[in-house]
Amino acid sequence: MGEQKMTGIVLESHGGPEELLFKKEADVPEIKPNEVLVNVEYCGMNHLDIWLRKGGTGDKLTLPRIPGSDVVGRVTETGTEVKYLQKGDFVVLYPGKGCGTCPSCINGRETLCRRFQILGYHIDGGYAEYVVTEEKRAIKIPDQFTKQWAGVPVAYVTAWNALVTKGKLTANDTAVIWGASGGLGYAALSIAKGIGAKAIGIVGEQSKIDFLKKNGFETFDFMTRDEDIPRKVRELTGKSGADIVLDHVGRKTFSTSLQMLARGGRLAFCGVTTGPMTEVDLRLIFGKQITITGSWMGDLKDFVEVVAFLQRKNLFPHIGKIFSIADAKTAHEFMEEGRYIGKLILENPIFQK
Ligand SMILES: [Zn+2]
Repeated sequence: MGEQKMTGIVLESHGGPEELLFKKEADVPEIKPNEVLVNVEYCGMNHLDIWLRKGGTGDKLTLPRIPGSDVVGRVTETGTEVKYLQKGDFVVLYPGKGCGTCPSCINGRETLCRRFQILGYHIDGGYAEYVVTEEKRAIKIPDQFTKQWAGVPVAYVTAWNALVTKGKLTANDTAVIWGASGGLGYAALSIAKGIGAKAIGIVGEQSKIDFLKKNGFETFDFMTRDEDIPRKVRELTGKSGADIVLDHVGRKTFSTSLQMLARGGRLAFCGVTTGPMTEVDLRLIFGKQITITGSWMGDLKDFVEVVAFLQRKNLFPHIGKIFSIADAKTAHEFMEEGRYIGKLILENPIFQK
């Protein structure tokens, strides 16, 4: 195997999109006995890819690295201890990996593991022809909606962990979703819809509301960021406030999230895209008996659950745009402009139609 070469994007130093170098002679990874080799068909993009590229996040990152956390493809080789997967199986990959032996890993809470690694961030990912993973992290799926599956892993496992596993979302709840047109927000809307909850989505502009209303979320309420959000949420919930708020924005939204929660509400918190430091009225937390939960991606069990959920409910991400893996530089520039809805997907040039 060491002799085999593949094409892929190899990040050798941190910086702008021009650092995403397309190589024709990258090494095909070798598999261990409990691993499978997956021929990547599609790889979804996440903001994590941009953080990796830019560096300076404080995380211990090593380069060179092949980015790409959201991988869908076909098994082309199986290790000697692989029991269930076979060559030709179509799989979507769980994008994380714990050490396997610490108490957190043994309890199935790998995301709490001090050695937790993310595919395409700490270990080589899917901006390439092949990727390697342990058998248990490759979930077999039907050979349908293949592009859509590439939008699932990071966004849906995070939304599921935040809203369902920790947030205990039920059909009785009204959930407010910040950034509802982005990858994570769209995942949260889909999960709320599948569960039968009511949702209120907050987006940047009216055109995104029009789009979401036309694409499966006609029963949900939406508003733009510049509206008086707590007041409108109060109106839409018969003055009681939201049962749960999904906040992955951070500095700019945290205080508003607390304000619009109902008594006994839950704040499902999972990111700080606008920065980490903020000031809040602490009285809101104990006065309204708010529960705040933090999610850092989701565990393998969450992933297995959300994969089954999406299949049964036939709910899949919206694909904003597809690029060839070879055009990752252009794709990153497009992502940073932010003028799209749903997920951006990279396609293995071999499968381009
Ligand atoms: Zn561990």
